[in-house]
Amino acid sequence: MGWFREKKAKEVEITCTFCNGTGRDPFTIMSPLATCYVCNGKKKVRVASPNVRCSYCRGMGVTPVGARNACLACHGIGFIPARETAETCLTCDGTGEDKIGLYCLQCHGSGKAVPLAV
Ligand SMILES: [Zn+2]
Ligand SMILES: [Zn+2]
Ligand SMILES: [Zn+2]
Repeated sequence: MGWFREKKAKEVEITCTFCNGTGRDPFTIMSPLATCYVCNGKKKVRVASPNVRCSYCRGMGVTPVGARNACLACHGIGFIPARETAETCLTCDGTGEDKIGLYCLQCHGSGKAVPLAV
């Protein structure tokens, strides 16, 4: 996990998963020179810590449905804020996906039973 860079206690900065750190739209939907709309061309995104890999997109940051857009569950980041003790989501059995192929609303695609922060 050398690509994790600690910034603040509650957030880490990671290389943008969606554009793989290029800062460009990986699917060139707008134009080949369009900036990545997940990191706004900054090549880095911030994610809360602790976090879990997004089960819905398998950490790729790309939605499994349609395949050219940022994952709706993690917003293209590939990680979802979570508690370290989070258990497997019983609603989707940890897949992060519901029966019709959308992300599981219960765990927000994380595949983990994430307790709501109080
Ligand atoms: Zn990006
Ligand atoms: Zn995702
Ligand atoms: Zn779930």
